[in-house]
Order: sequence, then structure tokens, then C-alpha cells
Amino acid sequence: MKIVVDWDRCEANGVCVRAAPESFHLDDKDQLHVLTESVPSELRAKVEKAIRGCPKQALSLSEE
Ligand code: SF4
Repeated sequence: MKIVVDWDRCEANGVCVRAAPESFHLDDKDQLHVLTESVPSELRAKVEKAIRGCPKQALSLSEE
């Protein structure tokens, strides 16, 4: 599973970073970075929580 970000929707509010800090990072310019594009199974639950919590619906998982 791969994390997909809709960059047109992301407003860099950091909700996903708080839910899954292993997978998402906001830099000092408020740019979001995906740290684990391919999601290891042990992080899957946290990443799904981050996806559900994104207020802009900017995150999804692809099957790739
Ligand atoms: S929670 Fe959504 S809008 Fe906020 S930084 Fe993450 S992807 Fe962007």
C-alpha cells in the first residue's frame, strides 16, 4: 500500500503528522513530506487514522 497525497487539497495543518509521525513530517516551510510512501504493516493502523483525520480529504492509499 502506498500513501497518495492530493497536493491541491493539502493545507499543511499537520493533523496527519500528529496521527502518524513516523509517516508524515512538516518541514520548517510548512511543506508536508511523506516519510513512508510504502506503508509497513505495523504502521498501517496509524496511517489509516491519519487518512480518516485529514480535514481536507487529501490523503488516500493506493494498492500499488
Ligand atoms: S492532515 Fe491532510 S491537510 Fe493536513 S497536512 Fe496532512 S494531508 Fe495535509
